[in-house]
Amino acid sequence: METREAFTRLKLSSIGDRCEALDRALDALQSHVHASPASKLVISGIKLALKALKEKLKRFQEDPDLEVLKDNELELRIHTVSHTLPYLHKILALIENSDVNAVPAELTAPIRRKIKDLFPSAEVIIVSSTELNYTIVDIMQYLKGDIWEKLGCQIPEGFPSKILRVSVPSVEHDQALLHCIIAHEIGHALYQENSLQKKIVDFEIPPDYLKRELVAIYSEIAKTKEQSPQGELPFDELEFRQSVTSRVNEVLPGWIQELGADIFGLLLFGPAYLFACVHFSLATGTLDNVSISHPANRLRLKVLFETLDARYPDGTMYSIETSRFLDVWRNIAHMEQQVGVIEAIAIYAIKEHDVLRKLQQEVEATIDAQHIFTKESYSSSLETLCPLIDAYVPPCEFLGDRRYQPAALVGILNAGWERFLSGLDKFRTHLPHSEKLTPFQLTLKFNSFLLKSMELNEAIAAWTKAFNDTHD
Ligand SMILES: [Zn+2]
Repeated sequence: METREAFTRLKLSSIGDRCEALDRALDALQSHVHASPASKLVISGIKLALKALKEKLKRFQEDPDLEVLKDNELELRIHTVSHTLPYLHKILALIENSDVNAVPAELTAPIRRKIKDLFPSAEVIIVSSTELNYTIVDIMQYLKGDIWEKLGCQIPEGFPSKILRVSVPSVEHDQALLHCIIAHEIGHALYQENSLQKKIVDFEIPPDYLKRELVAIYSEIAKTKEQSPQGELPFDELEFRQSVTSRVNEVLPGWIQELGADIFGLLLFGPAYLFACVHFSLATGTLDNVSISHPANRLRLKVLFETLDARYPDGTMYSIETSRFLDVWRNIAHMEQQVGVIEAIAIYAIKEHDVLRKLQQEVEATIDAQHIFTKESYSSSLETLCPLIDAYVPPCEFLGDRRYQPAALVGILNAGWERFLSGLDKFRTHLPHSEKLTPFQLTLKFNSFLLKSMELNEAIAAWTKAFNDTHD
């Protein structure tokens, strides 16, 4: 009995210490300057969970019923409460690097405004992560499902329905143009929020799908195998077909979601998304490789170009350099893909089930028309903002209809891409000692010029809104 008491006492006090340590870290974090107010909400959400956890531990200490439990039952009973502790650390890790030192406020404010246009009841946290990747997760899903529910906490008032955490690569945190990839991440959130998977992936591939072709592939493999010293195949033809089709069924929902997120990206951010997508994927992947979660980049580009060319049919709005860039990449996107059996069948199924048309329709129906970046928006952004960039004036507002109007964030990014693709020679002339700048340094200068424009644009938009609100 003495051993059991010592064990219980030490276990409870050890859990208590971990709780105190986490509480102390949360207090320290609360005093940081966060780029988004939602970081403080997450901290208070974790604190709420900690309080509930500590109360439960206290009740254990006072509960006489625990004495009747066997040793292992007692340990498990305590564990049902304490196992949430590592999850709390994981949630805390999600808001790491969300303060103003890690993420430029010039980026957070406009992206937050953009996402709130699409998800009015959501909050947004931008973090910079050391991964060379962009991601999005809803922290509220974890807080509600994995933590509060298990600890019996009531959802506190004033919490948004979603806290979308968008991560950008930390070493690229100041690359405004590349951050157009965020549009794809917003696309994932919209795809899931609107349950597009249910509407589009409403089919399964049966094992006798493309039977003749699969039998032919099996016979081919079997023939080579017979000639090799290892002898016969360890599976028969039916097993082979079943395994191939189940694998296709496994990858299809993820791949289709990726294609859908790309279409969202293009509709929300216009050609700027495609430009960023090409530049980013060139460095981080190959054209024809696939994974369980992602189809080949070439297929993604093909879908993007089909969507772009349908929505921006005559290319007259592009500069010569941009048209040339698009022509090169359109050719690359439409070159024949080097595909394996799984991908060939997945692509066939995508075609047979008219997935791309359905995706384009559903994505367009999901976004409010005012948030779609049309070819008219593209042309007018270029017309009004590119001359400002050329004159080294931040393209944050423009003179239209005899008064200044704030530019749209997506307009700034598209005008920025247009000038970037045209070469930064003109921009270079405005910089001191510009002859010493390497191409990468020049790109950085251009991106920080755009970030500054976004910051000014945000200030103008906030000021205009405040003015309109008080003069209604
Ligand atoms: Zn994705």
